[in-house]
Amino acid sequence: MNSHPSQRIGLLYSGGLDSAVLLGHLLEKGRTVRPFYVRSGMHWEDAERRAAIQYLGAFRSSRIEPLVELTQDVGEVYGAHWSLHGQGVPDASTEDEAVYLPGRNLLLISKAALWCQLNGIHELALAILASNPFPDATGEFFTALERTLELATGEPLRVVRPFAELSKPEVMRLGRDFPLELSFSCIDPQGGLHCGACNKCAERQAAFSAAEIPDRTRYARRWPSSPTATPGA
Ligand SMILES: [Zn+2]
Repeated sequence: MNSHPSQRIGLLYSGGLDSAVLLGHLLEKGRTVRPFYVRSGMHWEDAERRAAIQYLGAFRSSRIEPLVELTQDVGEVYGAHWSLHGQGVPDASTEDEAVYLPGRNLLLISKAALWCQLNGIHELALAILASNPFPDATGEFFTALERTLELATGEPLRVVRPFAELSKPEVMRLGRDFPLELSFSCIDPQGGLHCGACNKCAERQAAFSAAEIPDRTRYARRWPSSPTATPGA
């Protein structure tokens, strides 16, 4: 039943919408997936991690290898950042740039990449979308990173981004049949639920709406208060 070793691929997996869809997409392509969840001290991680594990379990797939949990704490470098203490979290009225976490891709990728290199996995998948506005999500960044990773260990590793040319609605439609209500993308969880009012909840609601997929997510509340309001408008 085991697939050929070359079919194995690592996946940087937060359990958010994009990486959740990518997991299902890789399984549909016949890949055996080793997911990596990186804990970096963000105040939403307990809720996020619970959801991430639940979503993996929902696939009941023998081609999902056990989740690798890594720690890459950013407290020493981010200082008193909202992402660590949860005060002043960007709400639904803010732009994407408001949720920029400096160097996040570099930090998240480096340890997962090293794990892959030490364990015979030659590809690491990331759910980067065409709309990602941040400097550590460009083709130039990833070309340089692959070179650096190979120089560091002598082991080649491709950092693949299957969604790099796709919009959010296109990605959502790829995941239409996946249990997306179990994915998690809130930066201010309330009682373990999506808050419904932060920047990422607004993005989530808009994504379901744009893809014309029913949003079965349980929200603590809706932004600003009306269930018919257009998030982020
Ligand atoms: Zn939220």
